[in-house]
Amino acid sequence: MTMIEIIETKKQGLPLTEEMIQFFVNGYTNGTIPDYQISALLMAIYFQGMNDEEATFLALAMRDSGDVLDLSDIDGIKVDKHSTGGVGDKISFILGPMVAHFGLKLAKMSGRGLGHTGGTIDKLESIHGLQTEISEEAFKKQVQKNHLAIIGQSGDIAPADKKLYALRDVTATVNSMPLIASSIMSKKLASGADIIVLDVKVGDGAFMKTVEEAKQLATLMVEIGKLANKKVIAVLTNMDEPLGYFIGNAHEIHEAVQTLLGKGPEDLNHIASTLVAHLLVQADLYQDFDIAYDASRLVLQKGLAFPYLNRMIEDQHGEAEMLLTMPLYFASNQFQLKSKKTGFIDKIEALKVGKAAMLLGAGRETKESVIDHYVGIELHKKVGDFVEEGETLLTIYHQEKGLNDAQILLENAFVYTNEEKEVQSILDTIQ
Ligand code: URA
Repeated sequence: MTMIEIIETKKQGLPLTEEMIQFFVNGYTNGTIPDYQISALLMAIYFQGMNDEEATFLALAMRDSGDVLDLSDIDGIKVDKHSTGGVGDKISFILGPMVAHFGLKLAKMSGRGLGHTGGTIDKLESIHGLQTEISEEAFKKQVQKNHLAIIGQSGDIAPADKKLYALRDVTATVNSMPLIASSIMSKKLASGADIIVLDVKVGDGAFMKTVEEAKQLATLMVEIGKLANKKVIAVLTNMDEPLGYFIGNAHEIHEAVQTLLGKGPEDLNHIASTLVAHLLVQADLYQDFDIAYDASRLVLQKGLAFPYLNRMIEDQHGEAEMLLTMPLYFASNQFQLKSKKTGFIDKIEALKVGKAAMLLGAGRETKESVIDHYVGIELHKKVGDFVEEGETLLTIYHQEKGLNDAQILLENAFVYTNEEKEVQSILDTIQ
């Protein structure tokens, strides 16, 4: 088999075999196939696409290019959750303790963020002392005992994806449905979980701008999961505004805790409970989705899941008291942004809010940027709310850095309408 044959096959729109896919993934990872041949193949895939089977072979070949987490020595059902990336997305900190309460195990490895706001690990590191670099053995022990651990990515997970993604980035081949789906799934299939719930964001602040596109991506990822013998459910959620009211690292931890204590906003309550209910049904703990959903809402209302987060922070050597006192640590300079118009809020463009948070220091502009965990944004209005000119739209917690540019972006993020608007945070479910 030669690389030229593989490129020629895809150029003609024919499916690649499992052997062909393994050949180019392995060859590229170990450096025997050059960038220019893989670039040509990626462009052929971009134009000709891949069927579900090819995308699955690609996901599996990339998974097998590195470490695959073996969670088999942890008792019970292991679950994982993935979000395609949203602004203000603190769902993992809510969902993790909730599933732990129900006896499922969440052993999650997460990344740091590049771009708008911080990643899951950056957010956790707003808690003093918290360790996210933990040995695999300690990680598994913690999950066995407390049902929950969220740590930084250790080991070498899907190195083929890392290399291919970097090449896609510079060859204009990132936004190919089979390449995105197999890239995401290669990492999820390496996570060792039995059941995976995918939160596919749709809208201005997300990778997928329309419901149709998001549905196509979700369907393909679910199909790859099934062909790889995993239970996978995808929920399409709205990203036409940030999630919840708080954006920023410490700010998001604070709001996740408030939600776990029964004081969260409706979008967080609804999305977290929906994702948890799907996991409960897939795990056969409930037969009926609506009953599982009501049980999940009740867990939030009664604050039953919070102790699992508290224990996780203690286990990972963080100052757990900070969970309840986080606002004391928020940057002390506050700027209130006032509305220049009167009307209903139609949209709060999440991408602009995310970029504003990054300019304040909450996210990284480059890999080397140092995050300020305590700057952030608190929205006072959400989509569907009515505002009068001069009312406060949001508070910026800042350290002077980036304030002017953030303010301009945030002002432009608000889109108004004269009509009342129904907000729908869950748009579809694929399973
Ligand atoms: N996220 C990924 O992990 N891979 C992609 O290709 C796109 C988004």
